[in-house]
Amino acid sequence: MIGVESDNDRTCPMVKKRIQTVGTLGELGMIQRLVRALPERADVVVGPGDDCAVVRPADDARYDYLLKSDPVIEGVHFTRSTPGAAVGHKALARVLSDIAAMGGEPLWALVNLVVPASTSVARVTGIYSGLSKLARHWRVAIVGGDVARGPCLEAHVFCVGRVPRGQAVLRGGARVGDYLFVTGTLGGSRHGKHLAFQPRLAEGRWLQSRRWATAMIDLSDGLATDLRHLIRQSRVGAELFLTSIPLASAIKKSASRQTVLRHAFCDGEDYELLFTVLPANAAKLIRAWRKTFKTPCAYIGRITDRRNVIECVDARGRKVRLKATGYEHFR
Ligand SMILES: [Mg+2]
Repeated sequence: MIGVESDNDRTCPMVKKRIQTVGTLGELGMIQRLVRALPERADVVVGPGDDCAVVRPADDARYDYLLKSDPVIEGVHFTRSTPGAAVGHKALARVLSDIAAMGGEPLWALVNLVVPASTSVARVTGIYSGLSKLARHWRVAIVGGDVARGPCLEAHVFCVGRVPRGQAVLRGGARVGDYLFVTGTLGGSRHGKHLAFQPRLAEGRWLQSRRWATAMIDLSDGLATDLRHLIRQSRVGAELFLTSIPLASAIKKSASRQTVLRHAFCDGEDYELLFTVLPANAAKLIRAWRKTFKTPCAYIGRITDRRNVIECVDARGRKVRLKATGYEHFR
């Protein structure tokens, strides 16, 4: 429980209790505490802890459904000067990226807006134009939501997708020896990618439908943090080849290689797919990928048996344990 400090505590230092805040507990710690004893149902296939929840509407259903919600908040995910259309695009694209990470097809979305009364109508309609454009592109229907007054602008999107029954690609499927791949380039979020990225839905569905991916996650908090989630759920470790990490051209020339790698590992909001592939399929995957997509796909490492450990292999083959972490909401 989160402790509460009383007046008595303040006057008597001997019994003073330290207030535990969400900031000191951290995002992961807070989530772990919240999900300890949630109500359950037998038709929930995957509950909290993956990119989406997976539910099964009936035992003989053709599809499992994917559920995902996410907020974007002014001052955290965008600024007052971010165009409304870009806010709307980002709000929906974030949840679509999580549907992509399960290999799913998005279907329906609900949108809640929290808006200060002083907000211009054009800004709010701009958000909806950005949402609608992306939704149309991926044949997602926006089927409702609400608008409420609040202290700052927020857009909360809830999305439902589907995947053939029992075939959602989870974070926990990586096995020792699997090859690690990432789509696109990393480290470009500060240069505008966090607003303009395209969710890797086509790539995610292709990886799922051909059974290439044994585990998958989208990179929302940075390679360092999201790879940790994947190896924790899979009960394995990983090694990363530093010279193989695909770096965004916007940051490549801007700083030392060390700094550029730090952006690639620790900046959140790349929204690329990180996935694992059986060693026997790796070469076939690369050939088939090149014939199918313009999006780059890079082989960046391997899954190891050093549970929960990420090691980086430099150009000379030296291994260094990765301690860095990516974006954390409360730190
Ligand atoms: Mg995710």
